[in-house]
Amino acid sequence: MVKKGRVFSGARPTGRQHLGNYFGAISNYVALQEEYDCVYCIVDLHALTTLESTRDLRKNTLEMAWDWLAAGIDPVKSIVFVQSMVRQITELHTILSMVTPLGKLTDLPTFKEKVRENPHNINYGLVGYPVLMSADIVLYKSNFVPVGIDQSPHIEFARETVRSFNFRYNTNALIEPQAKFTSFPKIMGIDGVNKMSKSLNNDIEIAATPEETTKLVMQMVTDPQRQRRSDPGNPDVCNVFSLHKIFTSPEQVASINSECRRAGIGCVDCKKMLAANMNDYFTPLRARRMEFQKDPDVTWDMLRDGAKRASVIAETTMVEVRKAIDLP
Ligand code: ADP
Repeated sequence: MVKKGRVFSGARPTGRQHLGNYFGAISNYVALQEEYDCVYCIVDLHALTTLESTRDLRKNTLEMAWDWLAAGIDPVKSIVFVQSMVRQITELHTILSMVTPLGKLTDLPTFKEKVRENPHNINYGLVGYPVLMSADIVLYKSNFVPVGIDQSPHIEFARETVRSFNFRYNTNALIEPQAKFTSFPKIMGIDGVNKMSKSLNNDIEIAATPEETTKLVMQMVTDPQRQRRSDPGNPDVCNVFSLHKIFTSPEQVASINSECRRAGIGCVDCKKMLAANMNDYFTPLRARRMEFQKDPDVTWDMLRDGAKRASVIAETTMVEVRKAIDLP
């Protein structure tokens, strides 16, 4: 099948992935592979901008790769690799930083947010984060970047960087990427009020054991108005019900909806059903992950193979870039 173009997406190595990562990113990565030529990158250099220690960096890279592969990201169909394995990325980052006005970087809302989060480590790399991100996208001649509507300024930044470079050096060496807008579901954490996130410690990992999953589901906050088993509940404000909509059959969802409203079902039983369905859903993924876990070297080899394929595209781009600038 002729592919519709190249998609690039990168994510920082955050280790074991949670339900939010899975439904907000990974499952979309898997789906895009059918129609697009996909390049998926674990961006470890980006992680260095905020990490205090690199002790867990390799482990987190591997754990994330296992979740990606087990979820169905296919390292043959797509190019899956680690950012630092392709050395050309740092060269392009340096070159693109020379066509980026500093004021534009410090004005970005994401920079201001990062400064608030890391007031004691406002390093040069943190300011240039969007330049490195643009370099990632254009190094692999990507046409599309899957983003939610709120991330469109990042893609606009990359497009402007490409235009500045191409204009300055009178070339078409770099391709202007386009945002591929997708509406991503927002998964709430087990606290029921915040977005699921590792840093808030409110997450459920997709590769958790059935017991761990059940334990966390049982801790989920439900409709706060429902104090006693005999009180009717409101599924519209209940995160357990939101997740049932993902993991549970439409008939069972309809039944929970009506039974909860007339106190026909209690939160404990409702959660037990959710945990069972969630565990069923992830059983095949967890089994595939166990296979990969048996030999980490097989996964590292896969990532290195992906990097080799990515390097071929990267070097083609860099030959054109160096030529446009007239670097020897
Ligand atoms: P990054 O900084 O690389 O985006 P995150 O771990 O914050 O790392 O997120 C990785 C991906 O998972 C992103 O696409 C993000 O939008 C998605 N994601 C993270 N948490 C959630 C959530 N609670 N609901 C939906 N999507 C999420």
